[in-house]
Amino acid sequence: MRKRIIWKSDMEEISIHKAQEIVDDWIMKIGKGYFSHLTNMALLTEEVGELARVIARKYGDQIAKKGDLDASLSEEMADVLWVLICLANQSGIDLTKAFEESIEKKTRRDSDRFLSRH
Ligand SMILES: [Mg+2]
Repeated sequence: MRKRIIWKSDMEEISIHKAQEIVDDWIMKIGKGYFSHLTNMALLTEEVGELARVIARKYGDQIAKKGDLDASLSEEMADVLWVLICLANQSGIDLTKAFEESIEKKTRRDSDRFLSRH
């Protein structure tokens, strides 16, 4: 009998904290533990490359070959997010707190920076 996928029912609205829990649950139950930091860093780089490939062909000057656009932008973004969350989890990083601190830092640093744009 297949294992019940317990995170499926909570997929309506996912906070960053919940996403970290869902990934951890999946990694422990299905993945049987995290890959090493270095492996996940390589995988993150790989996924960013796949995202770049889609963007280059969809919005850039590169012409898509047959099959190039089979992977979607949303799929590749989700792949990047997944591996980033893995790295955060295995490093003990609370991404909600880190994101809040990042917004504060950017706001403090850049509040006047783009005034000339419009
Ligand atoms: Mg991918």
